[in-house]
Amino acid sequence: MPERAPLRVLILGGSTEASEITGALAGRADVDVRLSLAGRTAAPIDHAVPTRIGGFGGVDGLADYLRAERIGVLVDATHPFAVQISRHAEVAAQTAGVALIKVGRPAWRSQPGDRWTEVEDMAAAVASLGAAARRVFLTIGRLQLAAFAKAPQHFYLVRTIDHVGGDHGLPNAAFIAARGPFDAAAERRLMQEHRIEALITKNSGGSAAAGKLFAARDLGIPVILVRRASTDDRCGVSEAIAMIDAHCAKAPRGV
Ligand code: NAP
Repeated sequence: MPERAPLRVLILGGSTEASEITGALAGRADVDVRLSLAGRTAAPIDHAVPTRIGGFGGVDGLADYLRAERIGVLVDATHPFAVQISRHAEVAAQTAGVALIKVGRPAWRSQPGDRWTEVEDMAAAVASLGAAARRVFLTIGRLQLAAFAKAPQHFYLVRTIDHVGGDHGLPNAAFIAARGPFDAAAERRLMQEHRIEALITKNSGGSAAAGKLFAARDLGIPVILVRRASTDDRCGVSEAIAMIDAHCAKAPRGV
C-alpha cells in the first residue's frame, strides 16, 4: 500500500498552547507542521519547526497562503486577546476549504477572597484606578501601555516580555522584561517589594500567568481584569492533537 503523504498543519501561534501543540507534533513523520508568528516579540522561542514570521496581509492573504502551501489543517492557537487573526482564520479557512481547529483556554474565574473588578477595555481599566495616586502592577503587554499615559499620577510596575522602548509616556514607572511562567510565591514577593496596591491584567486564563492572581488574593490587593472580547468555543491542547490525529488517519494516500 502506498504511504500516506504527511498532513500539512499550519499553527497560528504566540501562545502557550501553540508551543505545546508544536512541540507535540514536531518530528512526527505523518505531520508536516509549520508555525506562524506575528513577530511581536524580538526573540521568540525556537520551536525547531519551519516558522514564518509576520502578517499574511489580511484574510485574502491567509486564504492564499493556505491554498498555495496546500495546508490540510489550520490550527488557530493564538492568544485569547488576539481577536483579529482569529476572525481572519475563520473566514480564510472557510474560503480555502481547509479544516480549522480552534484552541484556547478558559477565562479565569474569581474565587472567594478575590477583589476583582472586570472591565471592557484598557480605557476602562485606566479610569477604574481613580484620581488618587496608586502603585499599580501592569501585566498587559507592551502595545497598550500608551493608555496609561492618561493617568500619570500613578506609579506603574510594568512587566513585559520585551524591553519597553523610551517613548512609553509613563513618568513614574519601573520596568521588568521577563517571560513566564511566574509562580505565586515570587509574584507575592515582587508585589510586596514594590508596595503594589492594584494589579491590572487581561483575563488571559491558563496557569502560566495565574500566580499573580493567587498573590493578589493572598495580599488582599484589588485586581482590575480586562474581559475577553470573544467567547468562542475552543478546545484544549490534547483534544486538538486528537483531532489532528483523526485528520492524519483520513489523509489521502500518496503515490
Ligand atoms: P491581532 O490583533 O488579532 O492580529 C493583528 C494582525 O497581526 C493580524 O491581522 C495578522 O496580520 C497578524 N497576526 C496576528 N497573529 C499572527 C500570527 N500568529 N501569524 C501571523 N500573523 C499574525 O493580534 P495581536 O493581539 O496583535 O497579537 C499578535 C500575536 O501575539 C498573536 O499571534 C497572539 O497569539 C500573540 N499574543 C497576543 C496577546 C494579546 O494580548 N493580544 C498576548 C500574548 C500573545 P495580517 O492581517 O497581515 O495577516
